[in-house]
Amino acid sequence: MGKQDLRSLNLKEMEILVTEWGYPKFRARQLFHWVQRQAVCEIDDMTNLPRSFRDRLKQTTVINCLEALSRQQSRDGSTVKLLFRLADGETIETVVMNYEGRTNQRDRATVCVSSQVGCSMGCAFCATGLGGWKRNLSPGEIVSQVMDGERVTGIPIDNVVLMGMGEPLLNYDNVVKAIRLMNDDAGLNIGWRRITLSTCGLVPQIRCLAREKMPIILAISLHAATDEKRDKLMPVNKKYPIGELLAACQEYVEITGRRVTFEYAMIKGINDSPQDAVKLGKLVSGIKCNVNLIPINPVPETGFLRPDDIAIRKFRSILQDMNINVVIREEKGTDIDAACGQLRRRRLNLK
Ligand code: SF4
Repeated sequence: MGKQDLRSLNLKEMEILVTEWGYPKFRARQLFHWVQRQAVCEIDDMTNLPRSFRDRLKQTTVINCLEALSRQQSRDGSTVKLLFRLADGETIETVVMNYEGRTNQRDRATVCVSSQVGCSMGCAFCATGLGGWKRNLSPGEIVSQVMDGERVTGIPIDNVVLMGMGEPLLNYDNVVKAIRLMNDDAGLNIGWRRITLSTCGLVPQIRCLAREKMPIILAISLHAATDEKRDKLMPVNKKYPIGELLAACQEYVEITGRRVTFEYAMIKGINDSPQDAVKLGKLVSGIKCNVNLIPINPVPETGFLRPDDIAIRKFRSILQDMNINVVIREEKGTDIDAACGQLRRRRLNLK
């Protein structure tokens, strides 16, 4: 059996480990601090732990820091895309964005993390889905993207969005555990309001998430206002049509008190007409929500095109006239294929 990744363990699990080995419980808190707050990559760096304890840790556990195989920076300097190698040789992409425009500023740096290697959901506009699904990420591999994203770029991170590769709610237990680890005040201490989970619309899992007592921001990839159109863009809609999805969103709002965000990727000639805007407005008008309009990002295989700016602004103004909170999403990193729907699993030639 492989060694256990310390980054996947919460404080309670560390306490069990430590007391089973006959060490006092406070050693678990020290260990948690080193792993989750200091983000050390070497057990021997935990200098206030006794040598015997560190030796014991090394026998059965490991800290799986992610290795950055490549780092690409967007032309405007606001976005860095990292290709991380996981312990088993698989790869994932993680994106660090600074909305102030420069990646050396403290303010509002956000990391977009992946939750799976690849994805099985097959959304028509998305590069991740093209390569299929390989495996789920562990809680440690998810949290590590925050820690190692910060370590590799040197940019302090305040916000986390689970919008990278994969459908987070198909890796439910590991994602929920990772979010709790990120939020732990003895660890990274990232507030609930600074964590966003984006889903293509898995209704039963949305209902479960509402009851987790972790009021994070829920973002729904909606992208169409009718089942007919959404069926074509997102196969998940055949299983959980729009009516069921919106009922689950309403429940999420009622239980958590949080607004839901609806993401709407605008695709020329597909879902960008004024009629589409009116339908969308009517659909979400009863729900406490924000709508993010995302002009589609180019993925060569899909052939989808971005609408022109006039159509995008017209779409927004129709929603505004219907009193919907709507913004056009400021896209980051399109030139390095780091924007929404552009991330991919890369195959390595490891010989
Ligand atoms: S948009 Fe999200 S859920 Fe859909 S295929 Fe891409 S990664 Fe998967």
